[in-house]
Amino acid sequence: MLNKADYDRLKAASMEYFEKAGIVVNQAERDAFQVAEYNLGCVDEIGLELIEYVNTERCCAKELVLLPGQTCPEHRHPPVCGEIGKEETFRCRMGLVYLYVEGEPNCDETTMKAVPPKDRAQYFTCRHEVVLHPGEQYTIFPNTLHWFQSGPEGCIVSEFSTKSRDEFDIYTDPDIDAAQDRTL
Ligand code: ZN
Repeated sequence: MLNKADYDRLKAASMEYFEKAGIVVNQAERDAFQVAEYNLGCVDEIGLELIEYVNTERCCAKELVLLPGQTCPEHRHPPVCGEIGKEETFRCRMGLVYLYVEGEPNCDETTMKAVPPKDRAQYFTCRHEVVLHPGEQYTIFPNTLHWFQSGPEGCIVSEFSTKSRDEFDIYTDPDIDAAQDRTL
């Protein structure tokens, strides 16, 4: 469970990132600020922060923040209610993003840029690495496994996608609760 001290700390740090990047966040977005901690109790290692601009039946846009060392755990977006799963494009706005997707491996434990969280490394299986610098983006098609980690200075990632239904996401780590509440 996310506690208020962590929520407040991560929110304040994220707001500093947005300010540094020149991204204006309005009060309603600030009030609805979310921290995904996945109910693992190690939010500084496996966790991310986000604001949601829009999430209609057809499209969604979010701003994600990963502080140095934070990782979004491996997951995929399966078909839901007869519709193909969520498609998402990640565009790096600030910092570096180390993204790993299903497919032909192009790195291994000794060469990859990210460091899988050590106690749960077995749940980070994708080894097709894509490094995103500011202004670079990558599209993840439905039902494709992926995970990502920030570079040493943290990152901001804009996410453009079809409808987001986080509660249906399928995580490789069996201890992750996809339906957790992300706000306080
Ligand atoms: Zn995803």
